[in-house]
Amino acid sequence: MRAIVTCECCGYRQAVARPIRRPEQFHVICHGCEGVLLVEVTSADLRQADKPATTRAPHAAGGVGTPV
Ligand SMILES: [Zn+2]
Repeated sequence: MRAIVTCECCGYRQAVARPIRRPEQFHVICHGCEGVLLVEVTSADLRQADKPATTRAPHAAGGVGTPV
């Protein structure tokens, strides 16, 4: 999942560009005020981001390799 972090100091929102696969804590530097933000990802966050609703495989219409 990708986490969106909102800075408590200046309200700047930024995406954390690192793959998160398990609950963990880490720090990111706010691009707005350069403060250090503590990001906490819980297992509930991961479960919510892991719903398969958005993973829809593209379906090819007509098929590939049809003889002409
Ligand atoms: Zn900030």
